[in-house]
Amino acid sequence: MSEKITFAPISYTGWGSLSHLLDEVKRFKASKILVVTDPFLKDIGLTNQVTDPLEAEGYAIEIYTEVVPEPPLAIGEKLVAHTRDNAFDLVIGVGGGSALDLAKLAGVLASHDGNVADYLNLTGSKQITEKGLPTILIPTTSGTGSEITNISVLSLETTKDVVTHDNLLADVAIVDPALTISLPPKVTAATGVDALTHAVESYISKNASPVSDALALQAIRLISNSIRTAVANGEDKQARTDMSYGSYLAGIAFFNAGVAGVHALAYPLGGQFHIAHGDSNAVLLPYVMGYIRQSCEKRMKDIYDAMGFSSVNLSQEEASYKCVAELKRLVEDVGIPSSLKGFDIPEDALESLTNAGIEQRRILARSPMPLLKEDIYTIYKAAFDGV
Ligand code: NAD
Repeated sequence: MSEKITFAPISYTGWGSLSHLLDEVKRFKASKILVVTDPFLKDIGLTNQVTDPLEAEGYAIEIYTEVVPEPPLAIGEKLVAHTRDNAFDLVIGVGGGSALDLAKLAGVLASHDGNVADYLNLTGSKQITEKGLPTILIPTTSGTGSEITNISVLSLETTKDVVTHDNLLADVAIVDPALTISLPPKVTAATGVDALTHAVESYISKNASPVSDALALQAIRLISNSIRTAVANGEDKQARTDMSYGSYLAGIAFFNAGVAGVHALAYPLGGQFHIAHGDSNAVLLPYVMGYIRQSCEKRMKDIYDAMGFSSVNLSQEEASYKCVAELKRLVEDVGIPSSLKGFDIPEDALESLTNAGIEQRRILARSPMPLLKEDIYTIYKAAFDGV
């Protein structure tokens, strides 16, 4: 078996790496820059940390703030139309996955026609053909890995869908943990468990390879070891740095190996109940892993070890059970409700969640255990009851 391995062309990582931005912008010889960010980040001055040094050099910058968490399709359509109407020559995304996904979408679809909806994976009919505008992505959460994936996620009425093509890969990713210090505990927890889920799902994915395995296991080590501290004390530089590297590595891992059942079931929760992506993944992670445990005991034993425990005296089966329990404990320790009831999801929604979940065939195909409609309902029910 052989596989295609993709890494983003250029990345700057580590504390203070934002200092490389100006040189990278100069490289693109840009004159009119679109900065896509969310309004809160503009208000707290985080966006200005990016734009001030560029403005001081005389660059013309438009700061576009019509970004909301888990952006609906309409927000993407509006931004793409705006980008087409203006002669930008560089796009910079600053924010969590919501801002970065919109930035890369705008950069690529600026040079295409039609609506964003035409390019959606599940229902679209058009293909991406052009590279579009150069794009620099600067994450301010340690979660999605959007800065190094070729995916843009949009919320629809009943689920989420993606626009995906290698042309959506950023030209440059700048992953500076200093930009995550202001993340409140709740967002640190949700985005951090999102990153952990990327790593765990990459490691058990049917498309895993030795390359994605190495990235995923190191991501699991870093995140498991630092997430509780990052949530409890957001100013802890080491914990923020570990979370930043962990989410970056997890992003490359899942971009290459893909995510599976947790994400397939999380998308309907996001679409139908507007639950933050990280929370949707977190609440489902122990239940999906518990359900598919038998199909990947050896890999779950490795995950248990990477989380900092020792499976030396345990059978694979025992270690896999303990792995599920530790994943659940981690989610609870960082303050995320561990059942769907905790998110006020009514029991009569399980049917429509199941119907939307089964539509995510491309993602479900990577699960080490096939998940049919009845399996999906059973998992949602377990997550509802919290057992
Ligand atoms: P987000 O971008 O929605 O941000 C969540 C909240 O955190 C916002 O209110 C934002 O203002 C705030 N915030 C962000 N950075 C902050 C900071 N440094 N200080 C204080 N507040 C800050 O959250 P997210 O989880 O990063 O992104 C979620 C989106 O990314 C979803 O739409 C999800 O589907 C998508 N996603 C994309 C990929 C991909 O590969 N493209 C992967 C996973 C998820």
